[in-house]
Amino acid sequence: MEISVVSSSLYQQPLLLASRVSAAAGHDSKHWNSLIKQHTRLKNDSAILATYTQMESIGILPDHTTLPLVLKACARLGAVEKGKLLHAQIVNTDLIDDVRVGTALVDFYCKCGFPDDASLVFAEMNEIDVVAWNAMISGCVRCCEYEEAMLLFTRMQNQGFRCNSVTVVALLLACGELLDLGTGKEVHGYCLRNGLSDFNHHVATALIGFYLKFDVTSATRVFALMPSKNTVSWNAMITAYFEVEDYLKALQLFVKMVMAGFESDAVTMLIVLQACTEYGSLHLGRQIHQLIIKSGISKDMYIINALINMYGNNGMLRSSCDLFESASTKDVALWNSMLSVYLKEGSVVETLALFNKMQLTGFTGDVRTIVSGLRLCVELPTGLRDGKCLQASAIKNGIQRNMHIGNALLSMYADFNCIDDALKVFQELTDAGDVVSWHTLISALTRNGLKGQAWEIFGKMLESEVSPNTHTIISILASCKDEMSLSLGKSIHGYAIKHRAEVDPLLNTALTEMYMNCNDEATATNLFERFQDNDIVSWNSMIGCYIKTDQAQKALFLFDSMMSKVDPNSVTIINLLSGCTKLANLPLGQRLHAYALRRQFSFEYDLSLANAFITMYARCGDMHSAEKIFESLPRKNVVSWNAMIAGYGMHGRGPNALLAFSKMLQDGCKPNSITFVSTLSACSHSGLIEQGLQLYDSMVQEYYITPEVVHYACVVDLLCRGGSLTEAKKFIDTMPISPDASVWRALLSGCRVYTDTKLAKTISTKLLELEPTNAGNYILLSNIYAAAGLWSEVNKLRSLLEEKGLTKPPGKSWIAVRSKLHYFTAGDKSHPQSDKIYLKLNSLLASVKEIGYVPDLRWVLHDEDEERKVRRISSHSEKLAIAFGLISIGNGSPIQINKNLRVCGDCHEFGKYVSKLVGREIVLRDGSRFHHFTNGICSCKDYW
Ligand SMILES: [Zn+2]
Ligand SMILES: [Zn+2]
Repeated sequence: MEISVVSSSLYQQPLLLASRVSAAAGHDSKHWNSLIKQHTRLKNDSAILATYTQMESIGILPDHTTLPLVLKACARLGAVEKGKLLHAQIVNTDLIDDVRVGTALVDFYCKCGFPDDASLVFAEMNEIDVVAWNAMISGCVRCCEYEEAMLLFTRMQNQGFRCNSVTVVALLLACGELLDLGTGKEVHGYCLRNGLSDFNHHVATALIGFYLKFDVTSATRVFALMPSKNTVSWNAMITAYFEVEDYLKALQLFVKMVMAGFESDAVTMLIVLQACTEYGSLHLGRQIHQLIIKSGISKDMYIINALINMYGNNGMLRSSCDLFESASTKDVALWNSMLSVYLKEGSVVETLALFNKMQLTGFTGDVRTIVSGLRLCVELPTGLRDGKCLQASAIKNGIQRNMHIGNALLSMYADFNCIDDALKVFQELTDAGDVVSWHTLISALTRNGLKGQAWEIFGKMLESEVSPNTHTIISILASCKDEMSLSLGKSIHGYAIKHRAEVDPLLNTALTEMYMNCNDEATATNLFERFQDNDIVSWNSMIGCYIKTDQAQKALFLFDSMMSKVDPNSVTIINLLSGCTKLANLPLGQRLHAYALRRQFSFEYDLSLANAFITMYARCGDMHSAEKIFESLPRKNVVSWNAMIAGYGMHGRGPNALLAFSKMLQDGCKPNSITFVSTLSACSHSGLIEQGLQLYDSMVQEYYITPEVVHYACVVDLLCRGGSLTEAKKFIDTMPISPDASVWRALLSGCRVYTDTKLAKTISTKLLELEPTNAGNYILLSNIYAAAGLWSEVNKLRSLLEEKGLTKPPGKSWIAVRSKLHYFTAGDKSHPQSDKIYLKLNSLLASVKEIGYVPDLRWVLHDEDEERKVRRISSHSEKLAIAFGLISIGNGSPIQINKNLRVCGDCHEFGKYVSKLVGREIVLRDGSRFHHFTNGICSCKDYW
């Protein structure tokens, strides 16, 4: 007997009673029915069914009042077969004609998910009342047959029935699901006319829910006007604000709810905790935690989960951990939340430890865990290995073909440049690959310079069922980097237009960049200027393109027009600063500094910006300002230190560079390969030979940095500077990697200073082999021969240059006066103040000759008479720039000029004499370093 299975002591008594009654009453249906009613009052569905089974066995049917109760119990317990059997048993009785029984059957079938059976019963009913209509309509809504529900509603009205609150609630649900605003509003109107929404909070909540499908404002209005609110309607409204990401409103509403004395339940708590997490309100979050403890729901797994996230997102990692540890049972969601809290904190080690612990505890990790684990791998030195372990665990769980995991794997392999692994993952995904998978692979190929493969995959994508989106187009555009790819780039542009890809700022920027990279500036500017929605990224990209192509003036012009449209950010400034640095435009750099201060850009929090300013000041000759910014930084990174060391080095302040290097170590900052390049060349520029060579040894032995060719060039330079040319040559011969032109050039420069023409001849063959078209190398060699008076060799080189059609890149000197750059070439007369400049220059030449300057005609490579040589050398671009600087820059301040190539020896001498003559510092930045001329001496001590 089924009775025996019901063991709850609370229900024992009625059951015992039942057996007694059945024994006494025998076939009296009245008593059986009263028993069912009793079980119903006690909400004991099992007992109802047990009683009914007993009745069935002795051939008694429930009556029209209890039959609906039995059917309801069947529906609640999911006893579909039992209910159907009951239906079959009453089909041929009078019971089936009772409206209450019919309605109960309709309700039973709908609740069990058989709307068609319900419709059949409904169609055959002799008598239909509002309750029956409601059962049928709500039933359809429950079974997601919204359109059917609306049709029934029309029929109901046509037959003259009036809706009540139950109908209205069902209809509002249907209208919401069908996004039928018009009908929903009509229903709302009906409610207002019939006073349905005033006192029935089910109707009011349904109205809120309906309007929330469209917008929050209307819902808020309904909510505000609701005379009877309850927890459910408050929850609906709070959730609504949460879902439109208005977390503040959601929290304010919650506070109102508490103030108004409404009970909050687990649903309320969950949503407000999430709102606290998003809004970042730890204070309120803590108070809610107290409320949760008071209301006794603090053991709820969902609540614990939400609390972990709330504390974690508010930086209270400790509290999250405590909650996690205290949870008596942990489900996957809880592990995942704790993992993501650690992930967000960037605690890589802890995350991995927890991940391992999770697996040990028997949780294999679900899709979310594995995806976040894979994302983490990219940050780890052992990431590739860990990622492969995760992949193995995904395979073990049979979820490796999950799209999210596949895409995360793809992106991890792409980040590690493991193209083959990425391709393998992709191939396994192909039939299921989505647009993200295609896009990840294409951008990985593009990033790795595998243009051909990128285009191949893109072609396959076009043939597949997945169509490229804006992101895919952008990543394939990134592969068009030179003039050769212009036609490919254009075809992609055409594709985007043809397929009406939404041209957003991102795509337009990518197109503009592509045209710039492919040397089609006209189309690029046209695209940029015609586009209405250029955002900060578009402006920065365009400015960056101009800087990259050495068109700083255009970049500046763009910056000026940008300011009236969007606010420049630190990226803009960094871009422009690199232009200033290249052109040595100190006044403009200073203007940008003032701008950054005015806009309150923080150097403290934006180290890249601070470092860009340090580099700009150092490379534009203002070490003092570079130092000032550097000192002001509460924390410095390796880039900041490198910038300072390089700055000192360029200015010939080797001891300062070495001091900075040791301070960097004290500060706990680990030097990298670039630090050593800067420090080594600083030593070389200042003639600190021993220190430099020691540093090189420590780089290899203490810091385990594998020397690159640039480090070798530094060492060669150091040795040459100390006059150890033979040793330098030996050093080159023992290099484990083949020396490049820069290494040979360093040795050749040594030959120039120490006039070693024999060695120069052997090296030059190697150098000219490596760089046969670099005219600079021939000039350097020719300078060496000229210095040694080997004019026949000089002539030979000159005819070789002519034969090869090589020309020396034109020497240019320039000077910035109030942010404007003034350029000079040798013998230049194009400057508006040319007459004044030559007058000044001639008087300078006359005066310095009196204190010992003699023109060094070896620096003239033309074969002509001495008078012409003197005239030629007297109008070198450096000299013109110095003369112009002296007439246009106010008394006292140093004159800074710049040269694109190495300074010529004669101009170097001239600079020294002028500094002595006028008593002003003259700073000259040439292709490789700074020369500070003060009182007749140069900071380079004549070695460059
Ligand atoms: Zn010169
Ligand atoms: Zn110098």
